Amino acid sequence: MKIVLATQNKGKVREMSAILAPLGAEVYSLADMGIDTDVEENGVTFAENAMIKARAIFELVPEGMGVVADDSGLCVDALGGDPGVYSARYGGMNTDKERNALLARNLSAINASNSKARFVCAIACILPDGSAVEVQGQCEGHMTDTEKGEGGFGYDPLFVPDGCGGLTMAEISAEEKNRISHRALALEKLKAELGKR
Ligand code: IMP
Repeated sequence: MKIVLATQNKGKVREMSAILAPLGAEVYSLADMGIDTDVEENGVTFAENAMIKARAIFELVPEGMGVVADDSGLCVDALGGDPGVYSARYGGMNTDKERNALLARNLSAINASNSKARFVCAIACILPDGSAVEVQGQCEGHMTDTEKGEGGFGYDPLFVPDGCGGLTMAEISAEEKNRISHRALALEKLKAELGKR
């Protein structure tokens, strides 16, 4: 199956290709397809946003290709689930560095630097015939007050996933992240759903 990944985020393209390619899927990025469009993500849930993106990009790809779109983010218990669907634009900040600094500051201000948290990933897949599959994956863990590690992207340096010996998501290997991440778990579910068809 030919699949277009509906994301401009290079980190996600890398992670999603690593998981989908072994399935025998031919994976293309938006850049590969010459698609340079910004879809407005105005849903209130990850699932809604993923479906909005998938449907919009499906309109732009050649017949016979499917689309996989994801929407993901970090939900911190002590912040009532924030940054949530606003993860990519938390506080109106433009860079991962600024968003991480703001998040660490906001948590420290309420003495909740080690709050429980989870990464959530919703995936919407539109198959070449136009039918849709929706799945969601979560990676549980807690926050830490000091950024650690060089791997991954986004909030990884501040998030300590359960079961990884206290290392942050940015300190574990790419292979380990691709085994435990919210996106990996959602993709596993997608694989299972596609296998039923
Ligand atoms: P999206 O591109 O709208 O799904 O926004 C995702 C945002 O959530 C990213 O810009 C990151 O800030 C954050 N995020 C999602 N997945 C991850 C991850 O695996 N590690 C770190 N941050 C992530």
